[in-house]
Amino acid sequence: MSALPNTTFRIFARAPLLAAALFCGLSTLVSAAEEGKTLYETQYQGLAMGTLITARLISPDAKAAQKLEELVSERVDDYETLFTVHREGPLYEVNKRSGEWVEVDCRITELTEKAKAIAEASDRAFEPTIGTLVNVWKIGFGGDQVPARRDIDAALKKVDYTKIETQREDNVCRMRIGKGQSIDLGAIAKGWIGTALTQDLEAAGATNVILDLGGNVALLGKSPAGRAWNVGIQRPDKERGQIFAVVKAFDESVITSGAYERKIEKDGKSYGHILSPETGMPVATDIASVTIVDKDGARADGWCTALFAMGVEKAVKKMAEKKDLGVFILDSDLKRAWVSKCIADRVKILDPEVKLTVVE
Ligand code: AMP
Ligand code: MG
Repeated sequence: MSALPNTTFRIFARAPLLAAALFCGLSTLVSAAEEGKTLYETQYQGLAMGTLITARLISPDAKAAQKLEELVSERVDDYETLFTVHREGPLYEVNKRSGEWVEVDCRITELTEKAKAIAEASDRAFEPTIGTLVNVWKIGFGGDQVPARRDIDAALKKVDYTKIETQREDNVCRMRIGKGQSIDLGAIAKGWIGTALTQDLEAAGATNVILDLGGNVALLGKSPAGRAWNVGIQRPDKERGQIFAVVKAFDESVITSGAYERKIEKDGKSYGHILSPETGMPVATDIASVTIVDKDGARADGWCTALFAMGVEKAVKKMAEKKDLGVFILDSDLKRAWVSKCIADRVKILDPEVKLTVVE
C-alpha cells in the first residue's frame, strides 16, 4: 500500500437508482434495478492504498444513503493507516522497532495470524515478512532497476514468517518480528479492508454495495435487481474494462491478482511486484490471472497472491486440496482456464478461445 493522498470526488449522489451502470476498473458490474422499488444510490471514487477506489452504495433510506460516501472515505483512511508500512502507523512502528514487542490494535495481530497460516499452507508462496525484499526492489513505488545480487541476498536473510510472534492478554495485543525483519501485509490487507467496509456500510444502513478496491471487489447483498452481482474479470492483455469472463457473486469478495499489474520493464524483461522468498526475484509465473471468491476478503486476497506466485501446476494441485476455496485461474497462454468445482456454475467465460477445466 502506498501513501497516495486520499481524494474524494462526487460523480453523482442521491439519485434514485434507475438502470444499469457500467463500472470501470479491473472488474465490471452490470445490473438492473427492480421495478417499483425506490433505492437511493451514492457513488464514490477516491484514491487510496495506491489504487482507484470506486463504489456503488445503495440504501432504501435516502438519509442513510447520503452518509455512506463519507463513511467509506473516512474508514478507508483509517484502515489504510492500520495496515500500511509505507507511512506512520502501527505496522510501520513494528518494523521500526523490529526485535521488540510492540503493542498494536488486535485487528493487526488477527490479520497477522491469518497471514502466517496462509504462509504455512502455501509453502511460503505467500510470505508476510517479504518486506525487506520489497524495499530493495521497490516495484510499484519508485523502483526502476534490478537491484544488486548482494542487496537481494542481504534482504532474503531476513525473510522468515516463523519469526513473527503475536500475543493477546486481556484484550491487549502485542507482536514482535525478528530483528531487521520487515512485515508487509500488502497482499492481504486490501481484502480484509473490503470485507470490513461492507460490514461498516451494512451497519450504517446500506443494503446493496459493490466496492472495487483496484481489482479487489467486495459485495454486500445482491444487486438492486435482487440477483447476484455480475463481476467482470479483466482480460490481462487488453485495456482496463475489457473482460473475458463474468463471475456471479453476492455478500462476498471477488479478488483478482494479475500479471498486468505493477511491474518494472528493464532491458526487454518484465519484473512483476510479487517476489519469491526462495530466489529473491519477482516470481516467474505462467498464470495470467487468479480470481478468488470468498466470504472472507483477507483469505481471498492472501490466497490470490499465493496461487499466482505458485504457477499453474502447483496452484491447480492446491485447488484440488482446498475444495472450499473458490478459485478461477487463467493461463498465460490465454487459452486455458481452471475453476474450482464449488464456483464452477457461477463462472461464465465470454471468450470462445478459452477452454475451461473444472477442478474436482
Ligand atoms: P497483491 O496485489 O495482493 O498480490 O499484493 C502484492 C503486494 O504484496 C506487493 O506489492 C508486496 O507489498 C507484497 N508481496 C510481494 N511478494 C509477496 C509474497 N511472496 N508474499 C506476500 N506478499 C508479497
Ligand atoms: Mg493479494
